[in-house]
Amino acid sequence: MMWEDRRVMGDYPRAAEVKPAKGCFINNLWESSASGSSLPVLAPAEGVVFAEIAAGNEQDIDRAVAAARSAFDGGPWSRLTATERGRLLSRLSQLILENADELTELEARDCGKPIRAARADIQAAARYFEFYAGAADKVHGEQIPFTNGYYVTGEREPLGVTGHVIPWNYPAQMTGRTLGPALAMGNATVLKPAEDACLTVLRIAELAAEAGFPEGAVNVVPGLGHVAGAALSEHPGIDFISFTGSPMVGTLIQTAAAKNHIGCVLELGGKSPQIIFEDADLDAAIPVVVAAIIQNAGQTCSAGSRVLIQRSIWEKSVTLLRDRFGAVKAGLPHHDADLGPIINAKQKARVEGFIQRAREAGVPVIAEGGVRDDAPAGGFYVAPVVFGPVPRPDSLALDEVFGPVLAAIPFEDEADALALANGTEYGLIAGVWTRDTGRAIRMARRLRVGQVYINAYGAGGGIELPFGGVKKSGHGREKGFEALYEFSALKTIVIKHD
Ligand code: NAP
Ligand code: MG
Repeated sequence: MMWEDRRVMGDYPRAAEVKPAKGCFINNLWESSASGSSLPVLAPAEGVVFAEIAAGNEQDIDRAVAAARSAFDGGPWSRLTATERGRLLSRLSQLILENADELTELEARDCGKPIRAARADIQAAARYFEFYAGAADKVHGEQIPFTNGYYVTGEREPLGVTGHVIPWNYPAQMTGRTLGPALAMGNATVLKPAEDACLTVLRIAELAAEAGFPEGAVNVVPGLGHVAGAALSEHPGIDFISFTGSPMVGTLIQTAAAKNHIGCVLELGGKSPQIIFEDADLDAAIPVVVAAIIQNAGQTCSAGSRVLIQRSIWEKSVTLLRDRFGAVKAGLPHHDADLGPIINAKQKARVEGFIQRAREAGVPVIAEGGVRDDAPAGGFYVAPVVFGPVPRPDSLALDEVFGPVLAAIPFEDEADALALANGTEYGLIAGVWTRDTGRAIRMARRLRVGQVYINAYGAGGGIELPFGGVKKSGHGREKGFEALYEFSALKTIVIKHD
C-alpha cells in the first residue's frame, strides 16, 4: 500500500512497544536511509502499528547496487567457488532453522497469518536455501561437437548484480525462492521487499551476514514500491530483475528492464482452476479445493480461486463444499484459525468490493465461512465465501480477487472444461481431478499454465518444482533447477587446436 493510501485509510493505534527501524542492509551493515524517515509496520490481525522500517529511497538503492557491484567485480564474493557458495547457503538455511521460533512469530505478526502457516513458511524458506545449497556446484557445463580442430564448451556464468522485488504474501519464502538460486549461481543481490510485510526478510539478511556471506552479496533496501522499487528496477547498474506481484507493476518492471536491455522474470498471479470430473474421488478433492482458496486468506498467486465442476456431479459437490467451507473461520495468528486477515485496509476493501458487487449482481452464494468472535475489531478480516454457479462472463470468474473468495462454475464435458480453464487472461497453475489417466494426460497437455496437478493441488508448494506462468501470469521459471538457469547465462567458448 502506498503511503498516500494509508493516510486516506486513517491513522492506526500504536502497540505498547514499537520496534524501531534498523535501516537498510548494505554491505552487511545496517545503514540509515538517506531519506531520514521511516514507515510504520502494521499487524493486520490487530490493526496496530508494532514496528517501523526505513523508508529506503533512490540514494539507498544506489548505495546497495554499488555494494553488490563491488562484491561481484572482484570482491571476496566473486572469488568463492560454487562449493563455497553452497556451504554459505547451507549455513544460512541452518541459521533460519535455529531461529525458526523468532522468525515464525515475526512472520505471523507481520502478515497476520496463522502461526502454523508462518511456521511452515519459515521451514520452506530454510528449505529453499538448503535446496540451492546442494545445487550450487551441480550446474555443469557442456561440450559441444563442432568442426574438426575445435573444442567447444558451454558454461553457465552469473548475470552480475540481480535486482529482486517481492510481495507481502510470503516474505520469508519469497526471499528463499528468489535469493537462493541467484546466490547459488554467484550473482550479487539487491532486494526490495514489500512495505506491508518485510521484517523476516530483514532478519534473514542479517542471518546471511552471520552465515558468512561476504559484504555486498546480500543487500536489502526496504521502502515504498514507487520509490525504492522503481529506483531498483530502473537502475542502470543491475543486470537482471526478478519480480513477483501485480500485473500492473509487472508492466512497469518489464518496461524498465527493456529500457536497460536486461532480462526479467515476472510472476504475476493467476485465476487458477481446479477441475473436477464426474469420475473424481470427491472426498479427496473437496478438502483440497477448500484448502487451496483459504490458504493465506486467498492471498496466494497460485490460489485455487476457481472450481470447475462437471454438471452431472454439481449438486453432490456443492453439498460437500457447503459442509466443509461453512465451518471455516478467520482469526488471530495465535488462534491458529483456518485463515488470518487480509494484509491491509486497501486490499480488504478491494476483496469486499468483489463480494459486494457479486451479491448485488445476484450471483448465488454456495457457502460462507466466518470470523471468530474474539478476532480484534481493528483487524482486516474478511469472511470467506464460495459463489456459484458463477456466470462465465462475471468478473468473479475471470479476475484475480486475492482474497478468500471461490468461484464455482459448472461445465459439460472435457472440451468445455478446457475452454473454461483456459478462458482467462491468466495461466499459472491448474488441478485436474479424475480417475481416467488418458483424460488426465490430455488435460495436462492442453492446459495453458506453468504447472498442472493431477488428483492433487499445491498452491505455492514444491521448492523442487519449476514454477511460473504464461500469458498475464508472467514469464520465466522460478523454483527447482530451472531457477538456476534463469539466474545465469550460457557462455560458449570456442577453442581452435591442431
Ligand atoms: P504490487 O504493488 O505489485 O506489490 C509487489 C511489490 O512491488 C511490492 O514490493 C511493492 O512495493 C512493489 N512495487 C509497487 N510499485 C512499484 C513500482 N512502481 N516499481 C517497482 N516496484 C513496485 O502489489 P500490491 O499493490 O501489494 O497488491 C495488489 C494486487 O497485486 C493484489 O490484489 C494481487 O492481485 C496482486 N499480487 C500478487 C502477488 C503474487 O504473489 N503474484 C503478490 C502480491 C500482490 P510496496 O508494496 O512496498 O509499495
Ligand atoms: Mg505488516
